[in-house]
Amino acid sequence: MKAMRVHEYGKPLKLDEVEVKKPGPKEALVKIEACGVCHTDVHLAEGALKTEYFGGKRPWILGHEIAGNVVEAGSEVTDVNVGDTVLVDAWTAYTCGTCMPCRTGVENCCINNTPIGFGKDGGYAEYITVPAKALIKIEKLRPQDFASLACGGVTVFRALRKAAVTPSDTVVVYGAGGLGMFAVQLAKLMGSTVIAVSRSAEKLEMAKKFGADHVIDASKDPVNEVWKLTNGRGANVVLDLVGLEQTLENGLKMLGVLGRFLVVGVGPGPLKCLPDTAVNFELTISGVKVGTHKDLVDLVELAKKGFVKPVTTQTFKLEEANEALEKVKKGEILGRCVIKP
Ligand SMILES: [Zn+2]
Ligand SMILES: [Zn+2]
Repeated sequence: MKAMRVHEYGKPLKLDEVEVKKPGPKEALVKIEACGVCHTDVHLAEGALKTEYFGGKRPWILGHEIAGNVVEAGSEVTDVNVGDTVLVDAWTAYTCGTCMPCRTGVENCCINNTPIGFGKDGGYAEYITVPAKALIKIEKLRPQDFASLACGGVTVFRALRKAAVTPSDTVVVYGAGGLGMFAVQLAKLMGSTVIAVSRSAEKLEMAKKFGADHVIDASKDPVNEVWKLTNGRGANVVLDLVGLEQTLENGLKMLGVLGRFLVVGVGPGPLKCLPDTAVNFELTISGVKVGTHKDLVDLVELAKKGFVKPVTTQTFKLEEANEALEKVKKGEILGRCVIKP
């Protein structure tokens, strides 16, 4: 099969001919229909994040937002059948099952994890062989529309769940890329008032289409704007999807009493917070690491019921993966783009 692999960090991926792995008894072979291009793929291709850290070695195939059709199932596989359209839970497919996080329902934080597309071969390819337990049937949902639920979608879903968002809350979504579009929709679904913040007028326009009640240009004193829009109460929840020193600092200042701050975007930071800031308003600061398998199963259920609209705006051929990564790096993609092998 054809696959786009990282050979050297910082160099373009190479189109290679790679052998399709025959599925073992508990595995399934999936013909990939779409693989989302996540900003983390840029970090991995450049070596800011290394596959070696996740137990992998080069060359390896990038891509962790994978959807497609089962074309072969191992002898012990019972949950999926040939012909099923599935989403691959790339993040928890290879968790160890024995470490403390795994045994306590937080397998997304597994200390021995080798996630697909990070430590194992990923979805910038025609096929992938995966443990069948990592597959979630998506039925009639189109792979290219919903592949990015597997990382972009589930991460913000977990963030909003951890924040225990209620209809009386005002939620600030700081950053309006692919994750932002999922976050706006899901925060609305939870009944809250949603404020989207971004530097891009085009992305804010898109956020409005996905249901944002208010949008704020990030370059125009967004902290003050949030306090004005909330009539001096401050936001109840802020999702930082960016991770820059400025967004983290602004985000914390947007929160009112008992505010919940969710650190989602893994940027360079740093996150600085005076003890006073957290103490005076009794703030809660939480990190979010993708999601558990249950988070993704529940999110797929919401999508099947029509509560989550696709955020994919562009598709690329497999051999155009470098171009896609370049556009993602420059922030030129609205919502998400996917590779269609
Ligand atoms: Zn990702
Ligand atoms: Zn584990």
